[in-house]
Amino acid sequence: MDLPSIDDRSISDSAPEEGTKNLGLPNLASIKAMDHANPRHAQFVVVSWNITSLCNFRCPYCSTELNGGHYPDLPIEVCRDFVDRVMNHYSGSFGKKVYFELTGGEATLFPALAELLQHIKSRGGYTGLMSNGSLPSQKWTAIMSVLDHLCLSFHPRQSRPAQFLELAERIHPIVSTHFNIMMYPPLFDKSLEMAKSLRSILTNSSISLQPLLESLKPGMPMIMYSDHQKKIMEAFDCSVPWNKDNFSTRGGMKVAALNGDHFVVQVPQMVLGRLNRWKGWTCWAGLECITVKVDGEVFSAWCLQDKLGTIQSQDLTFPTSPTICLRDSCHSPCDMMTRKLQHG
Ligand code: SF4
Ligand code: SF4
Repeated sequence: MDLPSIDDRSISDSAPEEGTKNLGLPNLASIKAMDHANPRHAQFVVVSWNITSLCNFRCPYCSTELNGGHYPDLPIEVCRDFVDRVMNHYSGSFGKKVYFELTGGEATLFPALAELLQHIKSRGGYTGLMSNGSLPSQKWTAIMSVLDHLCLSFHPRQSRPAQFLELAERIHPIVSTHFNIMMYPPLFDKSLEMAKSLRSILTNSSISLQPLLESLKPGMPMIMYSDHQKKIMEAFDCSVPWNKDNFSTRGGMKVAALNGDHFVVQVPQMVLGRLNRWKGWTCWAGLECITVKVDGEVFSAWCLQDKLGTIQSQDLTFPTSPTICLRDSCHSPCDMMTRKLQHG
């Protein structure tokens, strides 16, 4: 089973200082490359696009920058033009498949969402959405036919369990779906109940119990959990029955060690094992992924190291070669699941 897309705003980077021994992972110095374990994933460029700063929820672990509606929505003409330029570069010139993952805020509040998804599909792109699932059930019908992947997040303070479960049950047989369960400590049991309920009704879907950061800025520590809560999260079995190969664009990364060994790691292992420190390595950010902030600024990845321009201007240029990592650590799952090569 491939790892699904993971909510970029919920991964923990509170890794232990001891290194990787406890997880049985090698030291970074003994690794020469990290590549996609599933060769099909290497064919995809992931465009991670924060399409709106509006949200109908006010989760305690979120910020007004993400949910306060401080940025006006981009006109659909600008969005369509951007899609065309991305497709011309990555698909036309490089023969890649392009997956547009729209997020927010609450992505379903973007007024021209259906039109944008349809345009992406008409240009041969693939579509994904991250949502809190609060859109009225009947309104999903308008966008399901143009969605390749859906990531639904359960936020215990504001999600309505019955509505969330009804949507999950209806939608998961139609579209490849991942469920993120936000483990907010004061409402931990409510989230855990949701995870159990989902596990009992889902097939061919994936579930993650997501530990939360104190705030959504990269590098922030994980919210304090009790030892009991941590043990529950570590031990929870998220597996559901699978009998088909679902659409996916990212997953485990194959690590090539200098001694010739190969093994696969998932994002949580990278974080907990402190493998997500690639300063000086060659990174395929900008070639395998790009990021669009809500104000239209475009970067090669969520680390915001290399700015490519803005989607509103014609001086936006896409990379044609990998970059050298200048960051002390890499925080976004999407960024981590990008090819990297150590020099020397
Ligand atoms: S649903 Fe997402 S964007 Fe909205 S307030 Fe919660 S964390 Fe923030
Ligand atoms: S921080 Fe940026 S440049 Fe460095 S490895 Fe991560 S995505 Fe690549």
